[in-house]
Amino acid sequence: MNDRHAFLDSLRAAVGAPHVLTEGDLSAWEQDWRKRVHGKALAVVRPGNTAEVAAVVKACAAAGVSLVPQGGNTGLVVGSTPDTSGTQVVLSLTRLSAVRAIDSANLTITMEAGCILQSVQEQAEKAGFLFPLSLAAEGSCTIGGNLGTNAGGTQVVRYGNARELCLGLEVVNAQGEVWHGLTGLRKDNTGYDLRDLFIGSEGTLGVITAATMKLYPLPAATLTAFAAVPSLAQAVALLGLAHRHLGAGLTGFEVMGQFALGLVARHYPQMRVPFYETAPYCVLLENSDSESEAHARERFEALLETAMEHGCVADAVVAENLTQAHQLWHIRESIPLAQAEEGLNIKHDISIPVSRIPAFCEATDALLQREILGVRLVNFGHLGDGNLHYNVQAPATGDYANDGAGFLREWEDRINTLVYDSVKVFDGSISAEHGVGDLKAAKLSDYKSPVALHMMRAIKQALDPQNIMNPGRVLAAR
Ligand code: FAD
Repeated sequence: MNDRHAFLDSLRAAVGAPHVLTEGDLSAWEQDWRKRVHGKALAVVRPGNTAEVAAVVKACAAAGVSLVPQGGNTGLVVGSTPDTSGTQVVLSLTRLSAVRAIDSANLTITMEAGCILQSVQEQAEKAGFLFPLSLAAEGSCTIGGNLGTNAGGTQVVRYGNARELCLGLEVVNAQGEVWHGLTGLRKDNTGYDLRDLFIGSEGTLGVITAATMKLYPLPAATLTAFAAVPSLAQAVALLGLAHRHLGAGLTGFEVMGQFALGLVARHYPQMRVPFYETAPYCVLLENSDSESEAHARERFEALLETAMEHGCVADAVVAENLTQAHQLWHIRESIPLAQAEEGLNIKHDISIPVSRIPAFCEATDALLQREILGVRLVNFGHLGDGNLHYNVQAPATGDYANDGAGFLREWEDRINTLVYDSVKVFDGSISAEHGVGDLKAAKLSDYKSPVALHMMRAIKQALDPQNIMNPGRVLAAR
């Protein structure tokens, strides 16, 4: 860029001087959620509407400056922060925060990209509907980031991930043109699906400025159960039974390994964690019923009785009220925090066909134990979707017992390769819901077919020939 001052002036002209930040503490935008990566931005720009986003992208394209779209900055793969060059613009979407419309007959909500997920859930509920996307970061993450990463969460087993909930998008492309694709249609077979290209593209193809997404009727009752299961294979068998007994009522199915629950019990002794001392795995089930609480309880109890007869469940508790249900969910949601309390660890967000998960874990656990005796596996996740957070923590004794950073330095690359090679053998994916970002971009070429990578590069080249949209993320520089 020839003239930094002239460029910054063009950004100020686009969004107003108060919304172009270049000085002071910009760490909220420059460092990632886990605080492992610290970038340096040329500027943080905060447009207030779609036209301003378009003007910023045009200014960047004219100056050849790359930009990094950012929502709540809760992403876990280093995709929303700038690199260290000090030459990238962070495009923060958080001022685009209006719900534009709720269409009760069409069962849709149209909202801007910077809307916080939790506030969308609340506004939908106020209008008498369920917006089912739900994840632990919902108090901070945005709809644009959810779509940019194709976020999953805890209700995918029933409602699908962000892609399946999305009917239409408004996007500013890499040339600064606005694509008005907010159709709200459930059927539209008029050629290539542009919407699906932008969902999950992690800001590398364009900037999502608004979306039309599906709403559902609020359930009459939601019940939660916590069950002790004798093995992972029996957890999968329980999932099969739950599908058969509850049908569309099954809205959550989370698995938690014994070590993961033990960490919650150790670091948060005020929490009552059922069954963790004896059960190798526990499962959290959620049943949402459209009739009544009595009906939901009846079906849940029938399921658990059958599961006990089949030997899939050793013991179970069903929450008596909403407070107890929240307490059970809180145990599941506390695992990542308890794990962080225990020390740095190596995270994996993988998916495997559900039927093959027990064999995958048996094979991979053994592989890792052979490599590092005593290594600890924090295994938990959305079993209903075949998605595990298969995380690896240093052995409790020995060189790395109190040196998580040293463990990561020495072992992260090797362990990632072992786990991802195993994922490949079991026909899985190395990123189930967090995306690729910077963190996994280099690995992608090892685990995606050359044909797939070639088509992905062709799409990127066609839509962003200047390579200004979040360069290096998803597709590593060659
Ligand atoms: P950001 O972090 O700001 O951005 C993420 C990516 O999307 C970046 O590549 C960015 O460039 C791009 N992006 C952001 N906004 C736009 C836009 N408007 N247009 C185009 N691209 C854009 N994820 C799950 O899927 N399931 C979970 O259960 C889950 N649980 C989590 C729990 C915790 C405690 C945390 C911290 C994270 C969790 N995540 C989970 C990851 C993360 O919250 C999600 O990926 C979330 O969808 C990111 O939203 P965001 O607004 O924070 O996006």
